Amino acid sequence: TQRRYDTLAAARNWSPQANGEFKQMHIKEVFGEFTLTLDDLRERLPKIVWQELKMTIEEGQQLNLSVADAVALAMKEWATEMGATHFTHWFQPLTGATAEKHDSFITPNQGGGAVSEFSGKDLIQGEPDASSFPSGGLRATFEARGYTAWDPTSPVFLIENQNGKYLCIPTAFASWTGEALDHKTPLLRSVETLDEQTKRALALFGVKSKRVTSTVGCEQEYFLIDQEFFYRRPDLMTSGRTLVGAKPPRGQELDDHYFGSIPDRVLSYMLEAERELYRLGIPVKTRHNEVAPGQFEVAPIFENCNIAADHQQLMMIVLKKIAKKYGFECLLHEKPFDGLNGSGKHLNWSLSTTEGMNLLEPGESPHENMQFLFFFSAVLSAVYKHQDLLRIAIASASNDHRLGANEAPPAIISAYIGEQLEDIIKQLLNGGLKKSMKSGLMGLGSPVLPTIPKHAGDRNRTSPFAFTGNKFEFRAVGSSQSVSFPIVVLNTAVAESIDTMCTSLEKKMEKQDLESSLKEVLVETMSEARDIIFNGDGYSDDWQEEAEKRGLLNLKSTADALPLLTDEKNINLFEKYNVMSSREVHSRLEIWAEQYVTNLNIEVDTTEAIAKTMVYPAAIRYINELTAAVKETSELGLDNYGSKEMLETVNGALNDLGKALVDLKKTQDELESEDLMDLCKEYRAKIIPAMGKIRDSVDFLERYTADDHWPLPIYREMLFVK
Ligand code: ADP
Ligand code: MG
Repeated sequence: TQRRYDTLAAARNWSPQANGEFKQMHIKEVFGEFTLTLDDLRERLPKIVWQELKMTIEEGQQLNLSVADAVALAMKEWATEMGATHFTHWFQPLTGATAEKHDSFITPNQGGGAVSEFSGKDLIQGEPDASSFPSGGLRATFEARGYTAWDPTSPVFLIENQNGKYLCIPTAFASWTGEALDHKTPLLRSVETLDEQTKRALALFGVKSKRVTSTVGCEQEYFLIDQEFFYRRPDLMTSGRTLVGAKPPRGQELDDHYFGSIPDRVLSYMLEAERELYRLGIPVKTRHNEVAPGQFEVAPIFENCNIAADHQQLMMIVLKKIAKKYGFECLLHEKPFDGLNGSGKHLNWSLSTTEGMNLLEPGESPHENMQFLFFFSAVLSAVYKHQDLLRIAIASASNDHRLGANEAPPAIISAYIGEQLEDIIKQLLNGGLKKSMKSGLMGLGSPVLPTIPKHAGDRNRTSPFAFTGNKFEFRAVGSSQSVSFPIVVLNTAVAESIDTMCTSLEKKMEKQDLESSLKEVLVETMSEARDIIFNGDGYSDDWQEEAEKRGLLNLKSTADALPLLTDEKNINLFEKYNVMSSREVHSRLEIWAEQYVTNLNIEVDTTEAIAKTMVYPAAIRYINELTAAVKETSELGLDNYGSKEMLETVNGALNDLGKALVDLKKTQDELESEDLMDLCKEYRAKIIPAMGKIRDSVDFLERYTADDHWPLPIYREMLFVK
């Protein structure tokens, strides 16, 4: 028999000494070391050039080539001083990951020397071959080129490994017809429309701002397991999650991990990962153990949404990269281990002026509170009107395992706002604010009504979308996904609400003052949107019923949610605010549906391979041993209590497995949908349960097969060796 995996070896593999000289860090010294911020750039640029660049960044003015040349030169100088040899346009195709194509800064010339090449043109535009990225029909086959265009609002940065560095230039990625093939382009467009509408609203409140943007801070959850285990699990390697595996004997409820101190090896890893993130200018703030054994979380201080989205991608890259140095594999999948808490990525979202005013921060004065209630209601209305889009924005085969699994918010989108705010909304709708109106400015902040709580301490972990004092927290977002599209949906939907509310407010203000007009607008808005508010237990069955009564959507799986993306309402929304064209929306539907099917196909193939080539042979070997034992003991006339029953049990489970494998094949052969959306539904309805049957048999066999025959690292080993 083969040598059973030795868990002790994994535990001993890592020693703190093995990791070089890095012993401590001074955040001040390392922060931003690998990034060229706008401030750094200003110092390196002639004044006129800087001013022109600033106009581009702040007012979207077209960049002229001589400015670009000067900026490119400054960037190249900085990068080469830092030891970089190459540059790349860094972009975010619709795979959800990031992509790079490297070019060297130098070209050897005929004289045996080399010339440096990185001009303004190289900076502002690149032409990667787009054919290897999903386009959802946006790219004609005869035109494989795609274009990347520099996003001057996100700082360039360096990526380093032990042998060198290269300069990354954040870019948008489009087809030759100018259609967005990436996540950044719609995000930047949504930032524009949100800025426009919000400033229009602020003007009504007498607030001037240069620019308004949404702010985003993402709490990233992840698992760490020893690499020894990772590479022995084909399922983790191909699909990022365990497709088979029996639950560990010790439930996570019993684990002291959540409140315990961080294991030393993990802490060393975190410190190095954080150092890398600091170097990139990513303001990491918190780290802690998470609920499940082997699960952790890291969160940065919030930034403007475009930079936050770039930084979030970088964070995932760095977490994975540094893990390997410590003999770990960082698992970002939403549900790596069945029966254990999954991983999410809370997306904290608010609106802020560049002058630093948080528009979702309840204020001290009644006037501030009016403004707060306006934006607060705008968000609730956006969530109510576009529940489907928010659900779609978090839909993936992997996140489906998590949503509604009593560990993550349900698939029903609702908003938690806390008792006090709910009370204020109720009073508003019942006309209760009327009386206090007379005593001035709606009485908010006056003794008639409770002051709006600042940073309400209440927590309701069961809500997919919660107001947490001065921001909303979109909790249903998956741990492995790009946060860009969820941000696009929020930005655009809220811009629409603000637009609608402003139009109404402006009209009313022709006849009456702001206070009276606003009150009417709030009542209009909230009487339509009030059903989205739910402060109760989102995990309960009662909520499923209650939500249905309220007519809220309950899109249980990706297959149910995705088709709604191209509903007229949604196309209209994206088109009206110039965030995406109808073609761009359709392309995303196609890409995400394809991804759903592709991911499930990978899981099917891997499940089959593990069952046939690893589990089946192991069980057969064990059956042979049992058979021999039963035969020999009875020939010798010896007792063999239980051996025959054991043989029958294992043999029975193996038969079940054989049948489940045949059934899966049959199910695959019988898939009949031509239409991609129907195919997704068929996968959901037939393929997933067929895979589940195989898993049941395999997990049963894991409990009975001799441990030294079992070919896969088991949950106990993967989760508790740190
Ligand atoms: P909580 O205790 O509510 O989780 P934290 O202060 O720990 O609050 O913040 C959690 C995350 O929310 C962090 O990533 C933080 O940067 C982010 N966050 C805080 N304020 C805002 C804001 N105004 N806009 C966007 N994100 C924010
Ligand atoms: Mg939080």
